[in-house]
Amino acid sequence: MNLIIFGPPGAGKGTQSAFIAKKYNLFQLSTGDILREQIKAKTELGAKISPMINAGSFVPDEIVSELIEKVIKENDYKNRIIFDGYPRSLPQAKNLDYLLKKYYQKITIVLKLSVSLETIKKRISERRSLENRPDDNEDIAIKRFKTYEKSTEPVIQYYEKLNLLKVIDGERSIEQINKEISDIISII
Ligand code: AMP
Repeated sequence: MNLIIFGPPGAGKGTQSAFIAKKYNLFQLSTGDILREQIKAKTELGAKISPMINAGSFVPDEIVSELIEKVIKENDYKNRIIFDGYPRSLPQAKNLDYLLKKYYQKITIVLKLSVSLETIKKRISERRSLENRPDDNEDIAIKRFKTYEKSTEPVIQYYEKLNLLKVIDGERSIEQINKEISDIISII
């Protein structure tokens, strides 16, 4: 099973992906985490992408594509990936189709965590005090939310047309969302 999880910044997709990955023994492919690790490790790539991430802008497609292909082609992760943060635009969705086909895989299900901007603002300000992410200040968070609406919502419609989409009310507690996701996965 390969899954995609969507949700605006602060929707809890990282938390839910980690839960799903553990419960179903999947590999959590968080593009945001991989990119932040590059910055933390002070690599050349990290220095290049750091201003983009801090400004709440997308990192160029070729960079992210290369990172995800490394995981998709790995035999150990074959049909065991949860995509958290990719794809974020229609060209990325088309690229993911291409890569999955290349390695004889497909997407099994797409989950979308639906959360209002008000809740996002509250959660991001809580997360900032815990994780200290430079892109979690309110202005940048709003920018990331708007980018999500503009670039990522069309991707969600793309998967809806393919009958792969399940929308989940992300306003509820972590445990309630865990339960709904488990129920959805159990009947796949
Ligand atoms: P996230 O942790 O998913 O909220 O991602 C944090 C930041 O990493 C985003 O605001 C982008 O700057 C960058 N990023 C993560 N995933 C992608 C992607 N698929 N395409 C482009 N940039 C990305």
